[in-house]
Amino acid sequence: MSDEAINPTKERSTTSSPASAVDYDSWHRYVHRMSNQHTYSVPFSEEELRRDYDSGMTQAEVANKWGTTQKVVWRAMRRWGIPARVAAKRDQWGEANHMWKGDDATYKAMHHRLTTRFGQPQRCDVCGTTDRRRSYDWANLTGKIEDLEDYRRMCRSCHRKYDGKINNIECMRLARDGD
Ligand SMILES: [Zn+2]
Repeated sequence: MSDEAINPTKERSTTSSPASAVDYDSWHRYVHRMSNQHTYSVPFSEEELRRDYDSGMTQAEVANKWGTTQKVVWRAMRRWGIPARVAAKRDQWGEANHMWKGDDATYKAMHHRLTTRFGQPQRCDVCGTTDRRRSYDWANLTGKIEDLEDYRRMCRSCHRKYDGKINNIECMRLARDGD
């Protein structure tokens, strides 16, 4: 049921005024949205949603499976009183952080090797400071803790900033890939 069927002369007026076609589209979208609001039409049943979510899938994964958005899943869960799990980001982050630092024994052994071979760092390869009042570390760059090439001399301040940056990258990765 196009405009043309209702009114054959409409075609000409649409051509002269393209805005009316746009208006019709947005009106149609509006009606569609309103009807969805009333029926809460979702591509899954309450049982299917509960089963998927209880199996450990995230809201985003459930949405993906049913070809809808996380917001639709979230709204349906709220409507049906399905309690949302608290995201476990904190714990995961702890684990990732631990992995990043690697095995303590290996880490200590590597620092011993570096110090024996190259001495205790007395300058910073990042900011270039040689201030004797500062503390210096052998800082691991990319997590290859058994690779001597993966270490640089850094002052404590640059080391903290560097580790913070790496932690942020790791956090962003976790946030992106989700749980
Ligand atoms: Zn520095």
